[in-house]
Amino acid sequence: NLSPRLAMVARFVTPGARIADIGSDHGYLPAHLLLNQNITYAVIGEVASGPLENAKHELDRRHLTAYTQVRLANGLAAILPEDNVTEVTIAGMGGILISEILSAGYQRHQKFEKLILQPNTDEQVLRTWLEQHHYQITAEDIVQEGKHFYEVIVAQPGEQVLSETDRLFGPLLRKQQAPAFFAKWQKELQRIETIFDNLAAADKVETSAYQEWHIRYTQIQEVLS
Ligand code: SAM
Repeated sequence: NLSPRLAMVARFVTPGARIADIGSDHGYLPAHLLLNQNITYAVIGEVASGPLENAKHELDRRHLTAYTQVRLANGLAAILPEDNVTEVTIAGMGGILISEILSAGYQRHQKFEKLILQPNTDEQVLRTWLEQHHYQITAEDIVQEGKHFYEVIVAQPGEQVLSETDRLFGPLLRKQQAPAFFAKWQKELQRIETIFDNLAAADKVETSAYQEWHIRYTQIQEVLS
């Protein structure tokens, strides 16, 4: 069974799609999609040989090797034109690394009907990348697993203009205001309050650092209200 985080990613994959899962590690996501969501083909890309072996083992164990290609490659270089991949999943990496992987593919003119991205950090960097590279965000979701919050960003070809607030909070997430979204940003408010206390104790209330945190604090409060 998939973790809540990967289950959230899986929900956005279109039945019948030909997918590539980049940075797949154990291959749980493509295996689940092949077994439960009627996808017809999966490319599994891994840059490291240990994780690649994990994926091979998982697909073998589940008798899925006939529907998969497992390739040792950097990012989207795992995908060949003849794969006819329609949707790409990239999960469990930082938003900056995901952006770099997408950039390298973009330079090779690789385009897909749907990107299903689950950055662990720097979501705003990834949203900015999408905005600048002719993808529009068509769905978003957030899930809590233990003390961590994970966001998924789904993008499809198209134009979109995002505000700074959209980039940071998510254009759709900030409208949906799901309980996990609320909890994530409440936690961030508490973290900033601790920073305020520390700066005050160090007599650093009149600094630009304090001011910047104050701007961020107010911005979060406005989005949550
Ligand atoms: N996608 C899985 C998930 O969400 O559970 C595994 C996430 S794991 C934390 C990140 C994986 O991405 C690692 O197995 C790592 O080897 C792989 N990876 C990192 N950079 C990569 C790149 N440029 N191309 C392909 N895979 C990469």
